[in-house]
Amino acid sequence: MMVFLPYEVGPIRPPSEAGSLLIRATRNCPWNKCEFCPTYKQVRFEKRPVEDIIRDIDRAAAYHGDRFQTAFLQDANSLIMKTPDLVKVISHLKEKFPSVRRVTSYARARTVARKTVEELKQLHEAGLSRLHIGLESGYDALLEYMKKGVTSELAIEAGQKVKQSGISLCFYVILGLGGRLRLEGEETWRKHALETARVLNAVDPDYIRVRTLTIKEGMPLYEKLLSGEFEKAGDAEVVREEELLIENLEVTSRFVSDHSTNVLMDVRGKLPEDKEHMLSIIRRYLELSEEEQLNFRLGTLFRALGYAPNYLTLNEFFDPSKRQRVTAVIEEMEAKEAGSTRKLVERLNTMLI
Ligand code: SF4
Repeated sequence: MMVFLPYEVGPIRPPSEAGSLLIRATRNCPWNKCEFCPTYKQVRFEKRPVEDIIRDIDRAAAYHGDRFQTAFLQDANSLIMKTPDLVKVISHLKEKFPSVRRVTSYARARTVARKTVEELKQLHEAGLSRLHIGLESGYDALLEYMKKGVTSELAIEAGQKVKQSGISLCFYVILGLGGRLRLEGEETWRKHALETARVLNAVDPDYIRVRTLTIKEGMPLYEKLLSGEFEKAGDAEVVREEELLIENLEVTSRFVSDHSTNVLMDVRGKLPEDKEHMLSIIRRYLELSEEEQLNFRLGTLFRALGYAPNYLTLNEFFDPSKRQRVTAVIEEMEAKEAGSTRKLVERLNTMLI
């Protein structure tokens, strides 16, 4: 059911902010060029006047009362606001919502790198607790191909500054981002994994969140997929890349897989303690036959989209009764049309948000 709120709300927030109060500090994305991102492509970036944001906070307080413990500042890069303006907004938010214990926002690494540690400390003192930054990859050639507008050096600088300021840092990584490209004459997936590990090791963010590349209409990358310039990696290739990434991580971060685009949602934990366990799940998956991997993926997609039968974790795949039910669906589909399972998996993938 659509609820009309008496204040403005933007289109997206991280999965971890599902229960948060959403306050729109700016509209859309000031960069808006990333090849893999459809979110703001048809709309222009706008800064909002501080008094409008303050008025929205007042309206949200009158509408909801003090019932939120967490708040998220939208849209794609609130840090582009002048630091004193953002301090004013966050301070007002904390005043009107005294129960809010955590205030977070998305930010671009380039923008964060331009702030001083002192400015970031001011934001932290005002109440900004965490920044979600899309690292996507640490491999410069891939960042350039995807028009991310950031280099690995800038990402490291931004990440280290955030950590020094006391603000908690979440870096996002896109698994499979390089597809089957060969940039600089090398297999991109391998460089993507190794270079991303290098950046993560240099920063040691509090959280590493992974999501897997899905390509939909509205993304510039979609055109490259249609023309054949870009080819998506298969599930097993992406999982092998994830293995290489994790093997090379030397961090104390929490590794989070909370996005249904990921093949293995149960590969998560605290590093370094859970590293071997995480790798053991990956290796167990890689030992499956192609047919079993397809069966598993169909079951996890059914789960993500609310259909039954389904699997959430790899352990559930090894439950004979669960597997039998997914297998029965596949047998029925294949009897009608050979190859229809793979087509369905492709289609369901594009339905994930
Ligand atoms: S990924 Fe982020 S920075 Fe890139 S276009 Fe999308 S919202 Fe903007």
